[in-house]
Amino acid sequence: MDNKLIYEFSSQKTDGDASLSNLLGGKGANLAEMSKLGIQVPPGFTITTEACNYFSKNKKLPDGLKEEIINYVSNLESLSQKSFGNSESPLLLSVRSGGMISMPGMMDSILNIGLNDDNVQNLAKAFNDERFALDSYRRLIQMYSNVVLGVEVDRFEAVIANKKRMDNVTSDADFNVDQLDWIINAYKNTVERFTNSPFPQDPHEQLVGAIEAVFSSWQNKRAITYRKINNIPDSLGTGATIQTMVFGNLNDKSGTGVAFTRNPSNGSKELYGEYLINAQGEDVVAGIRTPHPIKNDDSVEQESLESKFPNAYKEIKEIASKLESHFKEVQDLEFTIENEKVYLLQTRKAKRTAQASIKIAIDLHNEGIALNASPGAAVGEIVFDADKAEKEANRGRDVILVRDETSPEDIHGMHSSVGILTTKGGMTSHAAVVARGMGKPCVVGAEGLTIDVENKTIGNGERVLTEGDIISIDGSLGEVYIGELETEPPRPSDEFNTLMDWCSEYKRLAVRANAETVLDTEKSLEFGAEGIGLCRTEHMFFEGERIIPMREMIMSESQQGRKRALKKLIDFQIADFESLFLLLKEKPITVRLLDPPMHEFLPKSDIEMTELGNAIGVSPSYIREMLVKLSESNPMLGHRGVRLGLSYPEIYEMQVEAILRAAYNIQKKDGVLVTPEIMIPLVMNAKELHQMKNLLIKKISKEQKKLDYKFEYTIGTMIELPSAALNSGSIAEHADFFSFGTNDLTQTTLGLSRDDASKFLTKYVENNIFSQDPFVSIDKKTVGKAVEISVNDGRQSNKDLKIGVCGEHAGEAESIHFFNTLEIDYISCSPFRIPTAKLAAAQAEIIQSN
Ligand code: ADP
Ligand code: MG
Ligand code: MG
Repeated sequence: MDNKLIYEFSSQKTDGDASLSNLLGGKGANLAEMSKLGIQVPPGFTITTEACNYFSKNKKLPDGLKEEIINYVSNLESLSQKSFGNSESPLLLSVRSGGMISMPGMMDSILNIGLNDDNVQNLAKAFNDERFALDSYRRLIQMYSNVVLGVEVDRFEAVIANKKRMDNVTSDADFNVDQLDWIINAYKNTVERFTNSPFPQDPHEQLVGAIEAVFSSWQNKRAITYRKINNIPDSLGTGATIQTMVFGNLNDKSGTGVAFTRNPSNGSKELYGEYLINAQGEDVVAGIRTPHPIKNDDSVEQESLESKFPNAYKEIKEIASKLESHFKEVQDLEFTIENEKVYLLQTRKAKRTAQASIKIAIDLHNEGIALNASPGAAVGEIVFDADKAEKEANRGRDVILVRDETSPEDIHGMHSSVGILTTKGGMTSHAAVVARGMGKPCVVGAEGLTIDVENKTIGNGERVLTEGDIISIDGSLGEVYIGELETEPPRPSDEFNTLMDWCSEYKRLAVRANAETVLDTEKSLEFGAEGIGLCRTEHMFFEGERIIPMREMIMSESQQGRKRALKKLIDFQIADFESLFLLLKEKPITVRLLDPPMHEFLPKSDIEMTELGNAIGVSPSYIREMLVKLSESNPMLGHRGVRLGLSYPEIYEMQVEAILRAAYNIQKKDGVLVTPEIMIPLVMNAKELHQMKNLLIKKISKEQKKLDYKFEYTIGTMIELPSAALNSGSIAEHADFFSFGTNDLTQTTLGLSRDDASKFLTKYVENNIFSQDPFVSIDKKTVGKAVEISVNDGRQSNKDLKIGVCGEHAGEAESIHFFNTLEIDYISCSPFRIPTAKLAAAQAEIIQSN
C-alpha cells in the first residue's frame, strides 16, 4: 500500500486533525485535534482505516507496516524518556479502536501493553509503587487475553470474586501486593489452561497482537449488528490508535472519568459526569464500583471531583468550554488524572435526549457558539435477557429490558425494548449512553432492586415481580412503578417553539399532518402542522352508531337501498368535516374519498351478524350469502379506491356532498372560507379519473343549484400505483393535485405486502438485499424513481399541479432529504412526527442550497 498509513500526535508534532475522521476514526482524529489545540493528551499515533480494510480483506497487515510501527514507537520512547521492552523504566501503551462514526463500546481497546514478568518490578520502582504495577499487569493480562486470545472475561472475574471472598476484600482497589501477586498467577494459569500457551511476554508481540485484534473487532458480531441498526456502512473500517499510557490507577491522587460539557438529559449548562478515584479505563462505565459525581451533588453521598480535586475540576471545566467552542457542539470527554495532573483521552459529540438537544441547540445559539443543529416514560412487560426481549418484541409486545447492567452484547435487545432498567451503573454507563442514543427511556442504577437471574424475578425486599409483569419507568425522574402508569405526551417547550420557528424559516417544503379526528388535528396544529395532507374518511365510518348504516349500505343489492343507508350517514360526515374545518381555519385539507375494500367493513362474529340482521331486517343466511359474495382473496389489490367509486358512485357523491356542505355551513356560520381538496384514491389511468371526476362534478353542480352557491374546491388524485406514476402526464390533465401514497406505492412497486413482509424483511436487511427497510425509508432507486418520473411528467402537462407526499416516508428524515430534491410542495405525516419532519425539511434545504 502506498498511502500514508500512520499519523502521529504529540505536543511536538501532529500530522492529523479532526477533518480526517474517515481515515483516523473519530477518536484518532480528535486526539490529533486536541493535541493541536495544546490540550494535554498523552502522545501517540493512529493507523488508518485503510490499513484496517486491507487487513479485513487480506487477513494480514500491509507489508512494511510492522517496521513502521516500530519506528513510531521509538518516537514515543524518546518523547517519554522511557523504553518499550524490558527496561528500567518501561513505556506502556494502549491500543484503541474507533471508526469515523462513534460506536460506543462496540469494539475493543487494550491498555498497559508492554508489561511482562520481567519489567513489572521496574515499573514498580519507577513509580515507587508495587501495588500499582501489579494492578496494571493483571489488567493487561485480563484485557489482552480476552480481546486477543479469546478467553472469556468471566474466567477472570471469577478469580477476582473468589479472592475477594477468600480474603474478605470488598473493592478491587483494596487488594494488596500479595493478593495481586496471587491474582496474577491465577490469571496466568487461566490463560495457559485455555490457550495452551503462556501469556505472551514479548512487548512487540503484544502490540501487534493488539492491533490485529482491534482491526478484527470491526467484524465482530456486535459491531456488525450495531452498524446494521444505525445504518453505518461496513466499508468504513476502524482506526487503531497507539497511545502512551497515563495512570489513573496510580494512587488516591489519581482517577479516571467521563464528563459531558452539558447535561445530556436536560441540556442544562454544567459540567456533568462521573469519575472514580484510583481506577483505570472503563472502570467507570463497567459498573464495578459506584462512580462519584463530577459536580457537587447533595443527593449523592460519594465525594465529588469538584470538592476532592478542585484544581483538576477547574482545569477540566476550562478544557470543556474550550472544546465546546472549538467543535461548536456539546462534547463527551474521557479524562484521566495521574497524580493530580489532568490528561484528555477522548472527545466526541455527545449523545443526548431529544429534550436536551433542543435546549442545547437554542442555548448554543444564544451564547453565540454555534448553529449546528429521552428521558420520557415507558410501559412494558419485564424481560430479563436481550434475546427474549427481541423475541417478544417481534411478537408485537412492549417490553422493558431489566438487567443488572447492560453490555454491548445486549444491543439487539435494547433496540427491541420500549425502555431499559438496570440495577447498577450511573448516568454514563453503557445502558444510559446507548439508551440516550436510541432515544429510549432508561432508568439506571436502581440499587434498591435485586434481580434473581435464575428464577427470573426482580424485587425490592417487599414485592417480587416475575417475567411478563408490567412496570412503568420514568427516565426523567429515575422512578420505577409497578403496573401501568399513564404516560403523558410531551408538551412543546419555549425552546421547542423557537426551534420550530427556525425550521420554518429555512425549509422549503410545507409540512402537513395525516389526521382525521379532532384530537389528532389539535395535536398536529400544536406541533406546527400547516394543514392536513391526508384525511382518511373510512375512519369516520367505524365509530359507534355509524358502522350499522355502513354495513347496511354494503349489504344492499340495489342502488336505492344503498342510497337509503347513505342518507343515515351524511349528517355524521357533515358534522365531522365541520369540526375539522373549524380547527384548521383556512389551512388546507385534503380529504380522501373512501378507499378500503368493502371487505374490511364486514361483520366478523356471529353476534355481529345477528345484530346487523336485526337492525336492517334481513335474515342471517342472507348476510352469510353476501359475505361470501363480498369477500376477496386479495383485497389490497381488489375492489377498492376509485374502483369502488365507479361501481357505486352514490358513495363518493354522498361524501363529496358532505364535504362541500360542511364548507358551506362553516362559511355561512363562522365566515371561514375552506377550500377542500377532494382526493380520489388508487387511480391507475386518466380515463378512470376523468370518468369519476365527471360524475362528481355533475353531482356538485346539482348541489350548487339547489343552494344557489358556488363551492370552492379542487379535485386531485393519489399516486400509489406504478401504473399511475407512468401515466402521470395524462392523469395530470384531469387533476389539480397529486399526493403520493408511498406506502402502497412501495407495496406495488416492489411487490411486497407490508403485512406479510416482516417475516423475511429483517433478514433481507441483515443480508444487505435492502440497505434499509423500504417501508421505513423510501427505496430511492425504485419507488423514489417512480415518484420522480411522476412529478416530472405531471408538472410538464399541468404546470399548476400541486404535489405532496402522504405516506409514512413523509415523516422519515432520509426520505425527506430525497423528497426535497424533487419539485414537490409539501409532505404530510402522522402528528407526532411533525417536529422531526420540519427539522429534516429545514436541514435538507440548508444542505441542498449550499
Ligand atoms: P472505547 O471506545 O470503548 O471508549 P477507548 O479506546 O476510549 O475505548 O478506551 C477505553 C478506556 O481506556 C477509556 O476510558 C480510555 O480513557 C482509557 N484509555 C485508553 N487509552 C488510554 C491511555 N493511553 N492512558 C490511560 N487511559 C487510557
Ligand atoms: Mg468502551
Ligand atoms: Mg472511549
